[in-house]
Amino acid sequence: MISRRDLRGSALSALDARGLRDALPRAQFDIEAALEVVRPICEQVRHDGADALRELGERFDRVRPTHLRVPAEVLKAAEEQLDPAVRGALVEAIRRVRIVHADQARTDVTTTVSEGGTVTERWIPVERVGLYVPGGLAVYPSSVVMNVVPAQVANVGSIAVASPPQEHNTGDFVGYPHPTILAACSLLGVDEVYAVGGAQAVAMFAYGAREKDGATVCEPVNLVTGPGNIYVAAAKRLLKGLIGIDAEAGPTEIAVLADDTADADHVAADLISQAEHDNLAASVLVTDSERLASDVEAALERRVAATKHTERVTTALAGPQSAIVLVDDVTAGLRVVDAYGAEHLEIHTANSREDAMRVRNAGAIFVGTYSPVSLGDYAAGSNHVLPTGGCACHSSGLSVQSFLKGVHIVEYSRDALAEVADVVVTLANSEDLPAHGEAVTARFEQDEEGRA
Ligand code: NAD
Repeated sequence: MISRRDLRGSALSALDARGLRDALPRAQFDIEAALEVVRPICEQVRHDGADALRELGERFDRVRPTHLRVPAEVLKAAEEQLDPAVRGALVEAIRRVRIVHADQARTDVTTTVSEGGTVTERWIPVERVGLYVPGGLAVYPSSVVMNVVPAQVANVGSIAVASPPQEHNTGDFVGYPHPTILAACSLLGVDEVYAVGGAQAVAMFAYGAREKDGATVCEPVNLVTGPGNIYVAAAKRLLKGLIGIDAEAGPTEIAVLADDTADADHVAADLISQAEHDNLAASVLVTDSERLASDVEAALERRVAATKHTERVTTALAGPQSAIVLVDDVTAGLRVVDAYGAEHLEIHTANSREDAMRVRNAGAIFVGTYSPVSLGDYAAGSNHVLPTGGCACHSSGLSVQSFLKGVHIVEYSRDALAEVADVVVTLANSEDLPAHGEAVTARFEQDEEGRA
């Protein structure tokens, strides 16, 4: 079911960083091919606005959105009809995510560079954001929480959510996103929700959308965040620049670094839990224990047969993106997981906490046997919108910071400018940009001529 890779002995030591990255399991999806798929979709939305969104919803989600923007009474109905147990769980998840993200709020910092010369870093929220909530193979009310809470903590003024309309909705919700997604929006006080999914949602946020008669359906946003499948990730990459984006958060990944002390059944359950997302999901075990590898293989056989989404899980585990990687020891395993840069990394070793602190590249790290990734997916308080595809070597998960822009405010007095004038003039001349220096000396010439 899941393949093995042997990186013991010289198989690992012979590899440089790039060779090691290439030797590791990775989804074979082709983002370039997906870019070619989403390019005409985005163009269609740019040209035909609301008409395109309805046509693309019918084509890709197999249901025509009843209204592109979900009416307020439908949001209210979703909240009223929400199962009380799900409501309670969502409220608790929101509380936990909010307390963690509240601690991320930034305060402005003023630095006195010299007497009379200050630079203040001011953190300003992005004005308007579009938050994507997936809803293809599975629906993700939890992604409403993970997107909306940090945006609210950052004080973003205008928040819009988009999620695909669901073909199996009934009653009040026909032609709209999943009712639990609508209910989560309502619980969080978000009233601008669109029944639009995939690349077309990202294009709607980037270009805005109007009806043929000019009526506005959706105003453009400044920033789009949120996870999604390869088409969502490709559209974000295509439209980056026109809009800001968070890290690419594509098909999910779990890597588990485990030694002989790990519980094979827990490890297998966690590998399956992420494989359940998507045929392209990646589950990777890195271990120095041959015995653990065999026990995990046996536990996978047993558990996969009994799990609900057996087919999806089997496809994901058998894919080239999933494997059990054998290494000589935990230190070698740490080199492997750093090169892999997993979205989610679990550490099940004798010294889990210490080993976790030795990791450089991961979207989020889960320490010890009682911190499974699915805890973080819903209710640890951490964010579950995390970089995939190795992007964890340069990017972070979604946070309050994702919704803030830092602006430097520079204020120098006459004396403070005079003190540094020679430095500016010298450097400006060295770059052959003398007018830069003249903009400084002009202040003092004016003074000398009594015109200031
Ligand atoms: P989705 O909402 O991302 O995608 C569904 C949309 O894809 C549809 O509305 C449709 O417009 C579009 N689409 C489907 N087939 C297409 C095609 N052939 N051509 C063009 N567009 C097409 O939902 P999903 O498919 O369930 O994917 C959700 C993904 O999000 C999963 O891969 C999951 O692992 C990932 N995820 C990632 C994170 C993270 O933080 N990295 C968190 C949660 C979920």
